[in-house]
Amino acid sequence: LIDYTTKNEPILEYRPNSKECLTLKKTLDKYLSKTTRIPCIIDGKEVWTDDVQRQIVPFDHKTTIAEYCYADENVLQKAIDSTLKNRIKWDMLPIEQRANIFLKAADLASTSWRSDLIATTMLGQGKTVFQAEIDAACELIDFWRFNVQFLADALKYKPISTSDSDNTYSYRGLEGFVAAITPFNFTAIGGHLASAPAMMGNTVLFKPSDTAMLSSYTVFKILQEAGLPPGIINFVPANGQVFGKTITKSPHLAAISFTGSTATFKTLWKWVSENLDNYRSFPRLIGECGGKNFHLIHPSADPTTIVYATIRASFEYSGQKCSACSRVYLPRSLARSFFDDMKNIMDNELKIASPLEFDTFSSAVIDNKSFDRIKSYIDYAKSSSSSKIIAGGLCDNHNGYYIHPTMIETKNPNDKLMTEEIFGPVVTVYVYDDKKFDEIVDLVDHTSSFGLTGSIFCQDKAVLEKTKERLLHSVGNLYLNDKSTGAVVNQQPFGGSRSSGTNDKAGGPHYILRWTSPISVKDMK
Ligand code: GLU
Repeated sequence: LIDYTTKNEPILEYRPNSKECLTLKKTLDKYLSKTTRIPCIIDGKEVWTDDVQRQIVPFDHKTTIAEYCYADENVLQKAIDSTLKNRIKWDMLPIEQRANIFLKAADLASTSWRSDLIATTMLGQGKTVFQAEIDAACELIDFWRFNVQFLADALKYKPISTSDSDNTYSYRGLEGFVAAITPFNFTAIGGHLASAPAMMGNTVLFKPSDTAMLSSYTVFKILQEAGLPPGIINFVPANGQVFGKTITKSPHLAAISFTGSTATFKTLWKWVSENLDNYRSFPRLIGECGGKNFHLIHPSADPTTIVYATIRASFEYSGQKCSACSRVYLPRSLARSFFDDMKNIMDNELKIASPLEFDTFSSAVIDNKSFDRIKSYIDYAKSSSSSKIIAGGLCDNHNGYYIHPTMIETKNPNDKLMTEEIFGPVVTVYVYDDKKFDEIVDLVDHTSSFGLTGSIFCQDKAVLEKTKERLLHSVGNLYLNDKSTGAVVNQQPFGGSRSSGTNDKAGGPHYILRWTSPISVKDMK
């Protein structure tokens, strides 16, 4: 039916002087040598507005890489009208024809556009080569390809027909338009949130994050080149409040496709509830929000594994992942070696610098607002009597928004350092008495209102199994003896429960079905 894949996109290594490395360097120069101008794109036409914003480079904030136009309420209304005008024709296309556009986009992202995706993600979002590769190339490609596979699998379902009736079941898009509100931290998530609903027959308003504008525009251009017809996804940078108010006021809002903070998602729910009587159908709100993810370490854990896993989960991409580990429960028997090894690596081995130096471990955080927020937690840890900084703590925003990986020890397991999402390279450790492991499992579960990811490190198989059972309802993605980050499409479908979101599991088989309004037809013989 559809030519789909069963393999994840291989990760390129960008070794010095490799073909991909040389191409990437040229592409980085291309984007650094000019300021890219980005319009809104509605019905395939460029719309330039007077409200021009700048996207700067987080690790070198004097450099502007893009200027983009904000859509105001009128422009957004035009974008909504366009989606409504194009909706039925798009939805009536054979499903294979729509799916093939996304397979073509995946091929383009894997080949001719790959270095553009990586370069714009490195410059705009401050990702290292490796982090940009696994996000903007591999994950994006995987989302596009595997969603087609999930669709092909879903189409296999056939209702029972009887001697007097033929019954069919098929998928339609939702009634109205879908608004995709996307985050800065994963180029792939932006592309996915806009394109999964489109693949299922919906027309979409794509509002990228301001700080991921250039890479999001690159994704959009790939979709255009892959043959996405005008007006199926309208690209509309906009002020968050203006966008949110305008879409929730429209009677045609069919769904919101969201990744971002829990607070923003709650605001969207409130605005939807205020307009509930005006909608033609019940809007579907699908969101992935924050986390306060844990590494729970049992006394039997492997001492080397816990160190490397925590370094990676807490500090890769400066902890700016919803899945980042930000609270660690450490038995006293392992505390000395853990703190020493972590500190040694943090002080001597992690290169915190521009990602243009390809051996950088991690770079600046995304913007000054993030810098201030993360720094305020570090300042709090410095001044609080219950916590102390064990390693890191340096914050410097002179040239870029640099926060060095920071490890804090707290004596208070309910401190805000253990409960609030910081979204930066800060991990807080609570040392417990080895004999109290069982109490700690309860504490892990009750401490946070979030339920996104968590890891258990334990080499005692029986304890591991029991602990897993006890924490199965705490998070959406549970890891055993591995870090809390780095879910791979169709290996660990990703999403959280509780205030971490609606747990619709991006990268899994059910996700695309959230973007459909199926129809059953009974036909008498
Ligand atoms: N899927 C990513 C991971 O498993 C995190 C996505 C996010 O930060 O939203 O690390």
